[in-house]
Amino acid sequence: MALVTKAIKGTQDLLPCDSHKNRYVEQTMLSIAEKFGFKEIRTPVFEHTELFSRGVGDTTDVVQKEMYTFDDKGGRSITLRPEGTAGAMRAFLEHGLFNEPLPQKVSYLTSCYRYEKPQAGRLREFHQFGVECFGTAAPAADAELISLAHQIFSFLGVEGLTLELNSIGCPTCRKNYHKALREYFESRKAQLCPTCLDRLERNPMRILDCKNPECQEIAKNAPKVLDYICDDCAAHFAAVKSHLDAMNIPYVVNPTIVRGLDYYTRTVFEFVSTQIGAQGTVCGGGRYDGLAEELGGSATPSLGFALGIERLMLLLAAQNTPLPEEERADLFFVTMGDAANCKAAQLAYSMRENGLAVQYDILGRSVKAQMKYANKTGARNTVVIGDSELESGEVTVKNMDGGDGAQLPLDGFEDAFEQYLIQAELGRLADEEISF
Ligand code: ATP
Ligand code: MG
Repeated sequence: MALVTKAIKGTQDLLPCDSHKNRYVEQTMLSIAEKFGFKEIRTPVFEHTELFSRGVGDTTDVVQKEMYTFDDKGGRSITLRPEGTAGAMRAFLEHGLFNEPLPQKVSYLTSCYRYEKPQAGRLREFHQFGVECFGTAAPAADAELISLAHQIFSFLGVEGLTLELNSIGCPTCRKNYHKALREYFESRKAQLCPTCLDRLERNPMRILDCKNPECQEIAKNAPKVLDYICDDCAAHFAAVKSHLDAMNIPYVVNPTIVRGLDYYTRTVFEFVSTQIGAQGTVCGGGRYDGLAEELGGSATPSLGFALGIERLMLLLAAQNTPLPEEERADLFFVTMGDAANCKAAQLAYSMRENGLAVQYDILGRSVKAQMKYANKTGARNTVVIGDSELESGEVTVKNMDGGDGAQLPLDGFEDAFEQYLIQAELGRLADEEISF
């Protein structure tokens, strides 16, 4: 029976004591993206398996080893989304968003599923914030997309991330590169893992992304893609870099990045940290000009990135980055007796309607225990209501942070309490000014 009280390996709960941090980070990302023109899209958590095998690429680790695929009761092959791009592109094609003004810019926050070996920063259910920009081939779009990730990290106060940049060329120049790679790996076949032997035939670039240490060792000295890209791709890459230079966004060119997914072309990039262990890539993305056609649409040059929420939260924690505190109740009503408890319920209801955070006892505890609870849960103010307060029509506000309290009437208490909060805030600001 222990199974029912234990979450599945590689999944994790986000508890109430932490959720406000994730919410802050997620809202921040969505709203910065909105300033860049990215609007939220939501797509289903499962799709036809074929969408991912075609859209992510059937020579990738994700498709070959990591997908949660099953037949539904109607015998269709279904897969839990391992990433967000394929679903967003499917929606773009299905709903004819290519007829809307281009580029179409979308953002999303989604859970993703990959059957991987769970470890720090690597889960089987994880979350991504992602953006996609459909319908532009211009290098300005690549630089803008990268600048969005950069601005998100700098707004959140993340430090020490390195932006690594590469171009992996287009299908034309890649032919030569594939040839050079095949020649290189052909003579080292004996040391490659079985998956990479298959990749050698079908897509030798995938070998460069293999996680097997022996393959990685051999891959180190393999020919570098930047030496093989055509003039157009080289010019595109140069333009991306000069846009980044203009925005003062530092980067290093890392000619070994090829990215995990098959559909990338030209620009690829990662934001990497050395502070969260082996899973250091917090954000990865790039251009995927061939994906729309791969999925049966017409040619639509596009690009995007995905940022791993769990890895970002690990990094924020490792750096002790200050995040907003949990929301505290503006007021807790400590009540004695049913009549007082009903009065508190009535006042709390209308004060909440006015946007205040208000709590009262719903457990039938003693006054002392209610006070303790109010204190522990961080209520800013308390008001005791008992028979004598109901009779006199007056209550005492106690400021739990040591500030001035107040005597307020029960009749019209909602407005009076708001006035009290305003006065307290003005007092605080005046104090600040004096100390300034
Ligand atoms: P890795 O090389 O670490 O396996 P990837 O290339 O498979 O990463 P992407 O598909 O580009 O990763 O996903 C984008 C981001 O999502 C990653 O940079 C990472 O932050 C996050 N991510 C990917 N897989 C996982 C996972 N299993 N658990 C937690 N986060 C993940
Ligand atoms: Mg991976």
